[in-house]
Parts: sequence; C-alpha cells; structure tokens
Amino acid sequence: MSSSSQLFHPDFVVEPYWWSETPPVLERNPLPAAVDVAIVGSGYCGLAAGLELARGGLKVAVLDAGRIGEGASTRNGGMVSGGLKVPMAMRATLGEERFSAMVRDSVASYTEFEAFLAREGIDAHYERCGRFTAAHSPGAYRRQEAQLPVLRDLMGLTARMVPESRQHEEIGSDFYHGGMVVEESGGLDPARYHRALRQKFQDAGGSLHGMTGVTAIRRASGGYVLETSSGPLRAETVFVATNGYSGGAWPFLRKRLIPITSFVIATEPLPEGLAAEINPKARMLVDTKRILYWYRLTPDRRRIIFGGRAKFRDVDERDSACNLHAFMSRIWPQVRGVRITHAWKGNVAFTFDHLPHMGRQDDVYYAGGCQGAGVAMSTYLGRRTALKILGAGGEPCGFDGLPFPSHPLYHGKPWFLPIVGNYYKTLDSLERYTGW
Ligand SMILES: Cc1cc2nc3c(=O)[nH]c(=O)nc-3n(C[C@H](O)[C@H](O)[C@H](O)COP(=O)(O)OP(=O)(O)OC[C@H]3O[C@@H](n4cnc5c(N)ncnc54)[C@H](O)[C@@H]3O)c2cc1C
Repeated sequence: MSSSSQLFHPDFVVEPYWWSETPPVLERNPLPAAVDVAIVGSGYCGLAAGLELARGGLKVAVLDAGRIGEGASTRNGGMVSGGLKVPMAMRATLGEERFSAMVRDSVASYTEFEAFLAREGIDAHYERCGRFTAAHSPGAYRRQEAQLPVLRDLMGLTARMVPESRQHEEIGSDFYHGGMVVEESGGLDPARYHRALRQKFQDAGGSLHGMTGVTAIRRASGGYVLETSSGPLRAETVFVATNGYSGGAWPFLRKRLIPITSFVIATEPLPEGLAAEINPKARMLVDTKRILYWYRLTPDRRRIIFGGRAKFRDVDERDSACNLHAFMSRIWPQVRGVRITHAWKGNVAFTFDHLPHMGRQDDVYYAGGCQGAGVAMSTYLGRRTALKILGAGGEPCGFDGLPFPSHPLYHGKPWFLPIVGNYYKTLDSLERYTGW
C-alpha cells in the first residue's frame, strides 16, 4: 500500500472494535449516603468482587471516574489464559509454599473462569481455541522448549512444541522459528463479557456510579469516607480496583503499579479464505519478544485484531496504527492491502516484581497488576478479595499479601519506559538477527 492514508478504511474510527456492538454505559446514578462496601473501579476486578459481595448480602456500590468499564476491561484483546509466566527464577526467593500456591491460583484463575462463564450462562463468544506462542529466534524456541516440563508437569497444561518446519499448521507465516501451543487458552469478546458481569452485579442488587471519580479515601468512624466528584460516600469497607488507571486518590497503589499503554488495531473483514490461511486454527497468537505483539481473529473469524506496544511514548492512535499495520504485514505479507477500521489504546498495569497482587493496606483492600494478562486473573483476584471480605476465603490466595515493591524514584509516571523499552527492543532485535 503506497500511502499511509490508504491504510485506513473510510469508516475508520478511534474506538475499540468491541464498542461498536457493546459501548460502555454511563450509569450516572446518585450516590447513596452509605454502603457496606465501596469499590473504586468498574472493570472485571471491581465487578467480580461486587457480584460476590452483593450475592453475599452486602450493600455494594461500584464507582468509576469514567463510563462503566471504560478502562482496560472493554479495550483488551479478549485472549484468556492463566495469566502467569511462571517466575521460575523467583522460586527460591518466594519459597516453595508460596510458589506452589501461585502456580495453583494461576491455573485456577483459568479453570474457574471457564466454569464461571458456563455456570452463569454468559454469552461472550468464548471459545477455547488454544494459543500459539511464536518464537522470534531459534534461541527463543529453545528457551520455550526448556519451559515445557514446567508447563506440563507443574501446571498440568497441554503444551507442545511446533518446529519451524510445521509452523504453517498454526500460523500462515514464515516470520517465526516455530513455537509452542498451549491448549488451555481461549478467546472472547471482552466488552460482552464485561456487560454480562455488570448486569449480573446489578441483578444481585449492586449499584453502579459512572462519572464518579474518587479523589480521596479518608478514615472515619465506622469505616471510611470517599470524597468523589459526586459528593461524599460513607463505606465500612473499601476495595480499590483501579489497575492501570490508578491515580492520586490512593497513592499506595499508584506508587506500585506501572501503567503501560498498549495499542490495538482491527481490520476490515478479510477477503474470502484469507483468515483460514493466516490463522488456520483460529488460535490466540502471541510472540516471544520482550516487547511482544499479540493478535487474533475476531470471534466471527472475519477480521484481525492486532496489538502491541507501537511506541514507548504516548502517541496518537492513528500513528500507532500505521506501525502496527507495518508489523502485521511483515508477519503476514498477504494482509498488506487490508485496511484498518478501528484503532485504540488502553493501559496495562505492570509491577516491579512482575507478579499480580492482592492485599490490604491501612485496612483498604486492593488488587491488580496482571501484566497485560488479566481477563481471567483480574476476575479471579476480584472474587478472591470479595471472599476475603466476606470471611469465606478458604486457603489464602497465592497472590495475597506478598511484599509489594515500589521504587523511591517512582511516583506513578513511568519516565523510565523509553529507556527500558528501547533496551528490550534492542535485545529482541539482536536475538532475532543473531539467532540467540
Ligand atoms: C489494549 C489492552 C489489551 C489487553 N489484552 C488482554 C488480553 O488479550 N488478555 C488478557 O488477559 N488481558 C488483556 N489485557 C489486560 C486486561 O484488560 C486487564 O488486566 C483487566 O481488564 C484489568 O481489569 P481491572 O478491573 O483490574 O481494571 P480496569 O478494567 O482498567 O478498570 C479500572 C477502572 O478504574 C477506574 N478508575 C481509576 N481511578 C479511579 C478513581 N479515582 N475513581 C473512580 N474510578 C477510577 C478507571 O476509570 C477504570 O475504569 C489488555 C489490556 C489492554 C489495555
């Protein structure tokens, strides 16, 4: 395609593809004077907690600074997995008991997610289609191979290597050096899933308050007062589930979560037969780079959703779309002429120890930091937090109460991102061109 303007379909919009069918809702409802539990953040994490608490008989309000679900939960790629790259290097530091608990909960986050969808009759176009992680270099393939026993024996996953000579069974591309298939992975429409959670929360008696930003959380007799853009709210218990959008309302989380912008495009419907050629098993696809790309077909298998970090500074969605399209065309030269219909971005929350966290600080509950793999995991952490509040948690969650590192020079703005990002990008390229 000759000019960048030709990349864009005449109907191009800067908006998540998922919103065409399921836009976030306003729900600007007046605040009650007091609730048992106030939840800050209306993504999967906040709503999954709210649902469990409301069903447990508590009066619950979920507050969001924007529209309901306008954060990552309706902007993501809808790729569902256990959400933890097993931190083998941390096994000794964490200790065997903690490590095993994390592995258990990581696996449970996925199995419980599938069970939850089935039990609740949630129609989010979920399909267990498996994931292919493509190796960006021969060395990366060998590292995947070394990880195989961990995935199989420790996590009980159905994982296998696919050599480069057979890679076309998984992806219609010559760009990679083989890769790994994990069957326990699926895809859904993230906004449909969010809508179902929201409706179930309301059916259980919970109240939603969009456009209600929390500006401060103060202790008061009998609990807390939340200062909000719609006035104060008293709550016995507070759960902060603001993840990659955590601001100054509760500095503890802001100092520990690193928001990283992830960019995404969706294409126009592909010509007949092309979808089956480029992704024959309709897998969720991701690569092994540190600065990775992830991609999939839409649930109707007609379009491509392609995401990744196009730039390390906050750029315009249109600019990032050109970069993503260029990279997509390197993987699949067959799609070079396919136009972009949607481009958007959203914040992923990383942590300094690369682990998700839940816990309680100054008696305020929190959860987050799913490192860009939070569809199942943030639902899980939200539910586990609710069970803890209800006093029904059973065995403590492996991600509960871990030391939660910050950095003295970090206050919520990841100034170091261009430096670290470019360093990682250089390592990725070196590996690709030297074969490491
Ligand atoms: C582009 C992108 C692609 C992704 N792809 C995948 C994927 O394919 N698979 C996967 O597993 N995960 C993916 N993720 C990650 C996943 O979307 C998140 O882990 C998950 O949605 C986090 O849910 P959450 O409820 O914790 O946070 P969010 O959904 O981000 O919700 C946090 C909410 O808090 C609100 N908020 C913040 N501050 C305040 C305040 N002061 N007062 C009131 N409200 C406030 C925000 O407005 C926001 O709505 C992706 C994320 C992004 C951004």
